[in-house]
Amino acid sequence: MSEIIKKPRGTSDYLFNDAEVFEEVRNSLLTLAKKYGCFYIMVPTYEEGKLFHRTAGESSDIVAKETFDIIRKGDKDYTLRPEFTAGINRAIIENKLYASPDMPLRISYFGPAFRYDRPQKGRLREFNQFGVEFIDTTLDINTIIDCLIFSYNAVKKITNKDVKVKLNYLGSFASREEYKEELKKYFAKKIDSMCDDCKRRLEVNPLRILDCKVKEDQLIASKAPKINDYLNKEDSVRFKQITQVLDKLKINYEIDSQLVRGLDYYTGLVWEIYSIDDESQIALGGGGQYSSLSKDIGGPPLDGIGFSLGIERLLLTMSKEIKSSIDIVIIDNKKDASIFDIVSTLREEGFSLSIVSASRSLQGGLKMADRLNASYAIIVDEENYKIKKLDTREQIEVDKKGLLKYFSEVSHA
Ligand code: AMP
Repeated sequence: MSEIIKKPRGTSDYLFNDAEVFEEVRNSLLTLAKKYGCFYIMVPTYEEGKLFHRTAGESSDIVAKETFDIIRKGDKDYTLRPEFTAGINRAIIENKLYASPDMPLRISYFGPAFRYDRPQKGRLREFNQFGVEFIDTTLDINTIIDCLIFSYNAVKKITNKDVKVKLNYLGSFASREEYKEELKKYFAKKIDSMCDDCKRRLEVNPLRILDCKVKEDQLIASKAPKINDYLNKEDSVRFKQITQVLDKLKINYEIDSQLVRGLDYYTGLVWEIYSIDDESQIALGGGGQYSSLSKDIGGPPLDGIGFSLGIERLLLTMSKEIKSSIDIVIIDNKKDASIFDIVSTLREEGFSLSIVSASRSLQGGLKMADRLNASYAIIVDEENYKIKKLDTREQIEVDKKGLLKYFSEVSHA
């Protein structure tokens, strides 16, 4: 026997009910996005590698070790997208969407992203994200708050669970640079006992040490200087304004001064969303504000804010069964391929319909109809048709005209 070929590690097959739930989640999120004024766009699953390398920052784990780089074909290096923000911003610049007088641009997206991570619960190599990017020449407070609220409401709606937002304010570029210097001084004294990733981060971006996942390093990081103490007046006022609105709206949030998020382009507000009753505390989604990204990839100066939700993590958190069903199952005893005029008419009338394999007996066909949760079975005999209503097991016998009349009445009932 030949070797059984399995799916690559960290990827998923979505079968039957799981695929239906996935589609339902996708549709709900995109419908919700319209309520927040978003327009949906689709961008390629791979881009020139430098797009991600330039925007995410070399200190981010995603770029340092998690990108799926495509073996060089032709003269360019390509990378499967590890996230959408860079690709969406590339599309905004390339298609000059920023020239629109209607600001902020509100864009939604959905699709797979790829990271060469160590697969474990909630951490896949191919996973799906839904998200939005709001873009403006200068982001105002309404846009920032609307984006944050959208992410919170979306997770609440999809999971039907109580959720919590962890937030932090990274401040303007200048105040962050000052803070980074302080962090460098603090960590320089402790770095010998810290992990190799932290050693690398100290050189390229000490902020990233704050969200190291190693327990001992976390303890050291928890005693580091706090970014909130380095915010300038304008940033402090804005952060306060945001939290005041959240208080008013009774949004469950907590300020986490160690939250810096995985990518280097964030400034201002950053946040992550968690389910309250999830012990493992994996983020269901995250977002943040950015300002240099557009310029870094050759565009005009633009500000942005966005979030993305991990669909697989939402699916793990929610529990939903959709009982798939079909309207009609046909059991063809004639087996002479003469059923297709009625099959076509019934499908045109809007019925979903499946045909039992010719190898199955009448009993086998009826059992299949029950398993498929069908409403009707049609048994095709030499001279006539039997219609069996599967909930009551009532059965009537009709000719072709009678059969079409019966289902026409059902569909108009
Ligand atoms: P990030 O930008 O890394 O915070 O990713 C945004 C969201 O995508 C996270 O909050 C997760 O829900 C999801 N996500 C990120 N990485 C993975 C992964 N490797 N597997 C599954 N979901 C992920």
